[in-house]
Amino acid sequence: MNIAGFYSDSISNGEGWRAVLFVSGCPHHCPGCHNPESWDKDYGELYVEDDIYTQIIENPFLDGLTLSGGEPFLYCKELFSLVKRIKAKGLNIWSYTGFTFEELLRWSEKNSYLQAFLQEIDILVDGKFLIEKKGPKKLFRGSCNQRIINVPASLKKQEVVIYIA
Ligand code: SF4
Repeated sequence: MNIAGFYSDSISNGEGWRAVLFVSGCPHHCPGCHNPESWDKDYGELYVEDDIYTQIIENPFLDGLTLSGGEPFLYCKELFSLVKRIKAKGLNIWSYTGFTFEELLRWSEKNSYLQAFLQEIDILVDGKFLIEKKGPKKLFRGSCNQRIINVPASLKKQEVVIYIA
């Protein structure tokens, strides 16, 4: 897996102070995408889990890690260990995805990696970026169709529980 970028701190990719990991590779190809270079899975640098982990835990001000892209859910297997280690340190996990929660839930029934990965995510910002639904400005989202979802509550109810409307 390659990564398209890494911010060691950010306040615009979820609540609080967050590290942000941008993975390379995205099948969605949304017109108007903010990060089109990340569509290519070979773009950027090789992902080295320990490098990213060390940069995150050495920053005492962080509230959590946000996964962005690219499409993080292409890499459930590769990202699972990092996410698990970060959570063990008391930080939370947000993830962006171009898929919908319902799609991920359905696919997770037959994919144990996806199921385990989804269970580690605290907040999911789901759905493709739709340029025709851009604005009015929605917190942490590019277009109005995207939802900010409480994943543990949604998994428990087996339906979407909105975290921030
Ligand atoms: S899902 Fe995100 S990264 Fe992928 S094309 Fe859409 S806006 Fe770009």
